[in-house]
Amino acid sequence: MKLLCDEMLKGLVRWLRAAGYDTLTLADGEEDGVLLQRAENEKRLLLTRDRQLMQHRRANGRAILLECNEQYECAAELTRLLHIDWHYRPFSRCMLCNTPLQTANDEQRLMLPVDVQADELVLYCPVCDKLFWEGSHVRRMRTHLARWAGGEFLPR
Ligand SMILES: [Zn+2]
Repeated sequence: MKLLCDEMLKGLVRWLRAAGYDTLTLADGEEDGVLLQRAENEKRLLLTRDRQLMQHRRANGRAILLECNEQYECAAELTRLLHIDWHYRPFSRCMLCNTPLQTANDEQRLMLPVDVQADELVLYCPVCDKLFWEGSHVRRMRTHLARWAGGEFLPR
């Protein structure tokens, strides 16, 4: 399942990526027709909170309307509608750009801060040229994903 989020659902994009879903978002103010065409071309499901977009002739079967307001409500609604598994493939994609992460090689690991353990799993995004490892940030995110995976959707 590949997803495309409209600008109103931006906050959810990094969480979907963190869970491992191929998720894109477009720049602000993109026209409905452009969004839907993109979704169609790339066989993505468009997630939107825009009722008007749903009136578009291309929206049928290609777009899903969410009624939520807060991010945790959107996560709950999305989970219900699409059976999102928040433990699908955690941290397999770059949260910033959606690119599949690779295991960092020795040369890339040279960019790590000195306090990162030598046996730590380190992932690399070739597009952002960034390293990701199990620091406190990733741990916090894992806890968050685990809560959602367990059906616990609460304001933070
Ligand atoms: Zn990236």
